[in-house]
Amino acid sequence: MKIAIDGPAGSGKTTVGRRLARKLGFQFINTGAMYRAVAWGLRQGLELEEMELELEGERVLLNGRDITAELYNEELDRLSSEVARDPRVRAFLIARQRELAEGRDVVMEGRDIGRVVLPEAEVKIFLEASLEERARRRFRERGGSLTEIEREIAERDRRDRGFGRLDPAPDALVISTDGLTVEEVVERALAWIQRARKER
Ligand code: C5P
Repeated sequence: MKIAIDGPAGSGKTTVGRRLARKLGFQFINTGAMYRAVAWGLRQGLELEEMELELEGERVLLNGRDITAELYNEELDRLSSEVARDPRVRAFLIARQRELAEGRDVVMEGRDIGRVVLPEAEVKIFLEASLEERARRRFRERGGSLTEIEREIAERDRRDRGFGRLDPAPDALVISTDGLTVEEVVERALAWIQRARKER
């Protein structure tokens, strides 16, 4: 079974996806981490063709080196959303993501999973939240200036438009997460998954 979780920056995809995967015993694949890893590699001067990307649980290995700790900062937030606009980068990563999901039970999280990467996924969930709420969540995770974070997320939304990255798949369950706890979102998602399992 394949579960696609999409939504904009700060919508809670990673937290929710990780919990769902743990509860279901599925493999969790965070595709944003892959865009971040490619951005990291390009910044190092590597060509796309020279990059071998591996995931070990939630750790990201680029050409055998674990770079996970270097992927979550403002610079990589920006660089990843810039390189993600390059159709060559998208084609490269989409192929790799399909390979990783092949023949497995997965929860795959990103922007275009339900529409592009795994359109055949049995379950599609799209998480939404207001810009203010998404900025508050990032602020709680990373600290910094709330106004600045809000500005950066708005900027990233602007760059993330296109390639169907901010639109739910037509058959996705859309959950507005403002005012909901992570547990409440996970419960709604699980109910939706149970329904899909019964239908199969
Ligand atoms: O989800 P995360 O914030 O880690 O993703 C980093 C960037 O990678 C996003 O801003 C987006 O531009 C890009 N991305 C994408 N398609 C995905 C996952 C991430 O374009 N499936």
